[in-house]
Amino acid sequence: MRLLPLALALCFAIPASTDASAAGGQTRIAPADIAVAERLRDAALKDDTAWDFTEGLSTEIPMRMPGSANDLKSREWVTAKFKELGFDKVWSEPVTYPVWVRRSESAEIVSPFPQKLVVTALGNSPATPPGGLAGEIVAFPTLDALKAAAAESVRGKIVYVGARMVARQDGKDYGIGSTLRTNGPSIASGKGAAGFLLRSAGTDHERLPHTGATRFADGVAPIPAAALSAPDAEQIERVLARGQPVRVKLALDCGMDGTYTGANVIAELRGSKQPDEYFLTGGHLDSWDLGTGAIDDAVGIGISVGAAKLIAQLPQRPARSIRVVAWANEESGIHGGNAYGEKHGKEVARAVLGSESDLGADRIYKMSATVKPESRDALAQIAAVLKPLGIDYDTQFQGKGGADLAAMHKAGMAAVSMHRDATRYFAWHHTANDTLDKIDPEQLRQNVAAYAVLAYLAAQADGDFGSKPGAFVGQDKKN
Ligand SMILES: [Zn+2]
Repeated sequence: MRLLPLALALCFAIPASTDASAAGGQTRIAPADIAVAERLRDAALKDDTAWDFTEGLSTEIPMRMPGSANDLKSREWVTAKFKELGFDKVWSEPVTYPVWVRRSESAEIVSPFPQKLVVTALGNSPATPPGGLAGEIVAFPTLDALKAAAAESVRGKIVYVGARMVARQDGKDYGIGSTLRTNGPSIASGKGAAGFLLRSAGTDHERLPHTGATRFADGVAPIPAAALSAPDAEQIERVLARGQPVRVKLALDCGMDGTYTGANVIAELRGSKQPDEYFLTGGHLDSWDLGTGAIDDAVGIGISVGAAKLIAQLPQRPARSIRVVAWANEESGIHGGNAYGEKHGKEVARAVLGSESDLGADRIYKMSATVKPESRDALAQIAAVLKPLGIDYDTQFQGKGGADLAAMHKAGMAAVSMHRDATRYFAWHHTANDTLDKIDPEQLRQNVAAYAVLAYLAAQADGDFGSKPGAFVGQDKKN
């Protein structure tokens, strides 16, 4: 009975089954469960399981490119770690995806002022011809300007787009950068461009370019595409401002290399009353090859693991299960999250609530949710436990839980988003600077505390959060 003394529980006739009161009814959290959650929260602020996990994975198996040798090694590592940490059940579910490989990359301004440029190829970019691709630059300030350009002005040239991102707490400028990176090369190719360069999707001024996947629309010929570091992008703009034609040469040795079957690695604390229902959390196991994948996203899995470990130390398992997933290949197309949705989406009601971590581990300042109205009071109870951590509950924003959960949310899973301070994150994201030293242990513990509270109370809640097939269709407009 939720860790309540049996006599007391009987006395107040607390419902014995969450199922009975769940369907369509008001969702509640018992005061005794709140007290346990407060203890979990406080214990998390002194616990370093998440740090140790992140330090271990990013030190022993950095550069976890999907389909690489480190893909298998990282799955073996995380499987062993899950078992060592005392999860009740650990298993893998296969995920098949196309493999992209990076071998080498370089670029230079050929004329009028010859000099080297610092670039990195975008994921899914094809190689340049042997000897490199040389061409005249045609520049645009934004993706919209490229979209509006006449094909004649672009044909045969190397398109450069210099859209900028500003560091913000909510990280919303990543929408500008990621849209440009994802769609820019395809749009340029559709107008006959020979190659594509963008100012990196980042907020820093390091001479370190930001990689990330691009995507070519069906029927569009893939063209070589790369990101310039911010200082190199500004250098190109200064050279262009002199008014002469600017020729660059791009040499990328990279490209698609067949398909590979990896896996989502899943660990579960089995629930004591409704073990087939679960709180779903985790992060993605793959990472780009430029850095060590500490902030993106070893620490995301680490946060979930740290939270689950604290819950595992309670005298009794919570009513429902807690499921931690190390998702496969998020970076090149959310392949792991989509595979999970395909396999488990038909039983979406079992996934009572989901929330993953994929934005580093700086301080969480806000929680938001997409849940049924009758569970808003329960969310407010959870929020009250989070309040001393400096986390507000934004009832207007519809948190969707994260990219790896998008397929499950689309299938009808209720979701919570924990909003981290993203002011620092996009300076390092997808660069060689994605390293362990960027994680502040104290802020990381605050993240773990928030997830421990959320996971425990979602698993213990008397009633559901509205997960059922198609539950939230049409509510996906906001973020
Ligand atoms: Zn990520």
